[in-house]
Amino acid sequence: MKDIKNPKKPVIYYYIGVLVLILLFNMFVAPRLFGPKVTEVPYSVFLDKLDRGEISEVSRDDIQITFADKKEPRNIYKTGVMDDPALVERMEKAGIKFYSPIVEPASPLISFLLSWLLPIGFFMIIGRLMSKRLSKMGGLNTMQLGKSNAKIYIQSKTGVSFKDVAGQEEAKEALWEVVDFLHNPAKYTEVGAVMPKGVLLVGPPGTGKTLLAKAVAGEAKVPFFSISGSEFVEMFVGMGAAKVRDLFKQAEEKAPCIVFIDEIDTIGKRRESGANFGGNDEREQTLNQLLSEMDGFDGSKGVMILAATNRPEILDPALTRPGRFDRRIPVELPDLPGRVAILKVHAKKVKLAPGVDLTRVARAAAGTSGADLANLINEAALRAVRNNRKTVTQDDLEASIDVVVAGYEKKDRVMSDKEKTIVAYHEVGHAMVAALQMGSAPVHKITIIPRTSGALGFTMQVEQEERFLMSKQDIENKIAILTGGRAAEELVFNSITTGASNDIEKATQLARAMVTRFGMAEEFGMVAFDQQQGQYLGGGYSSTCSAVTQSKIDELTVKIIKEQYDKATRALSDNLSKLHEIAHLLYETETLTGEQFMEILSRPPLLAEGGQEALEGGQDKEEQT
Ligand code: ADP
Ligand code: MG
Ligand code: ZN
Repeated sequence: MKDIKNPKKPVIYYYIGVLVLILLFNMFVAPRLFGPKVTEVPYSVFLDKLDRGEISEVSRDDIQITFADKKEPRNIYKTGVMDDPALVERMEKAGIKFYSPIVEPASPLISFLLSWLLPIGFFMIIGRLMSKRLSKMGGLNTMQLGKSNAKIYIQSKTGVSFKDVAGQEEAKEALWEVVDFLHNPAKYTEVGAVMPKGVLLVGPPGTGKTLLAKAVAGEAKVPFFSISGSEFVEMFVGMGAAKVRDLFKQAEEKAPCIVFIDEIDTIGKRRESGANFGGNDEREQTLNQLLSEMDGFDGSKGVMILAATNRPEILDPALTRPGRFDRRIPVELPDLPGRVAILKVHAKKVKLAPGVDLTRVARAAAGTSGADLANLINEAALRAVRNNRKTVTQDDLEASIDVVVAGYEKKDRVMSDKEKTIVAYHEVGHAMVAALQMGSAPVHKITIIPRTSGALGFTMQVEQEERFLMSKQDIENKIAILTGGRAAEELVFNSITTGASNDIEKATQLARAMVTRFGMAEEFGMVAFDQQQGQYLGGGYSSTCSAVTQSKIDELTVKIIKEQYDKATRALSDNLSKLHEIAHLLYETETLTGEQFMEILSRPPLLAEGGQEALEGGQDKEEQT
């Protein structure tokens, strides 16, 4: 968003600058402009010239003697005053006019005006301008404390329109209605429809909530006030409430208009019940002020309040009750068509090589947000430049998916051969368990290049289409894939490493969720013991159950993982020769594509191996092809 540029330099520089200018002006420029050049000479030179009769006029004050010679145009000299009683006599003898002023002073009024009043006036005007700007920033001007520092955007200033927000069709539609209402309120009031006073955008970080608000500012032809929740509670205690008051006063003056409060959770956090030992008073006052301001004006005035948060569950219930933020617009992570659309929007900013398939990229980048995708395109463009290319290729895009998902390649990490071999088996273990199970997403890529995120390698699977439901079977398969890495290590080396810690964590989470949230454990049935805390921030879970139940949950979780681990081990040991073959190839090439991997896996085995039987719950993929 373009906004008013705040002056960054402290005022003091301006003041010093102006002072220096005045001094320079008075020392060098003014005498030249308003008087002839005066040369300073020693007293002896004065006497010398006097005796030779070269002087026409002399004047004298307490500190200096000024004299002019007889040339045309005359030169003017000055010299210090000496205690010289004979001087008057000598001058009389030479017939010189003395005590008469030589330098015709400019009218004293004018010279005073020019050399002092003018610069000082200039100086004061600049000072005034500066303090005005400062107060616009909500800065330190004490007269202006408590003014809100909301920035006002008028339409087209932000340069963002709904076109720039890809996907999020429902959100755009809902917001469009709001904008439309502000333009033609009559259309709605005729039918008796009342617009909600407040609209709350909720969704995970990076999904485009702030972007949507900017687009509203760009589309609505009404003033748009934008402020971030944290700006209410910055500098001084007690200022937050005053700022809210001021913001709403300004908004009412400018109505119809839109007020946007970003990250509203910073002030809208649920108030504590019961005793409050200080600390949160400031925020509470700010929130109370916001609540009463929202009640204070009626919707017909045309002030629409828009807010965004990624933690709706911590908002005070008073904020979300009808009559305040009663319209809630979810801004979710994009689905496949949404991701394609976002990639297209951002790809316009870079030069794509012909034949680039953005859908393929979008499919591989499952679970990413709009911000991730914007970043992905940029990373790809940077990679193209690094490789001295003029266009962004499919390769660049694929590589930057890995960067966004797993971090940069860590070139300086040198693994020993032994470690590299273990990692290769580990990753192929994941990939093979995935491929040998029915219903798992196809393997897209296996790599053992270490990443800055700490991963020593990874296996990427890509769903062919978007999934919204997972069956019990699906989750079990997922757990089996996660255990596949460790299973391969144990099978081949008969020892285990720490490399699987992340897998273990994820598998445990899934298994526990089956028991405590998805009602998938027969022993408990449809009972939920855990509640999610941060819906959009991947927060933890709070547990509500007795210690006895707790230990039973743990027992079931362990059992589920054990079963899946055994299943994975069986699948791998049945295909041991393939495991060796693929792991060796991966060790050599460091990266295998899904196609290469499947090609080897579906080839008939070199040595006839006993019982390539189907896994329970599914058939071998290779037997289908
Ligand atoms: P948040 O929801 O956290 O406020 P932002 O609106 O700040 O997310 O999004 C960050 C950046 O991600 C945007 O500036 C934009 O470049 C990109 N982005 C996010 N969602 C979209 C989208 N739907 N279409 C296009 N770009 C998007
Ligand atoms: Mg934001
Ligand atoms: Zn692993």
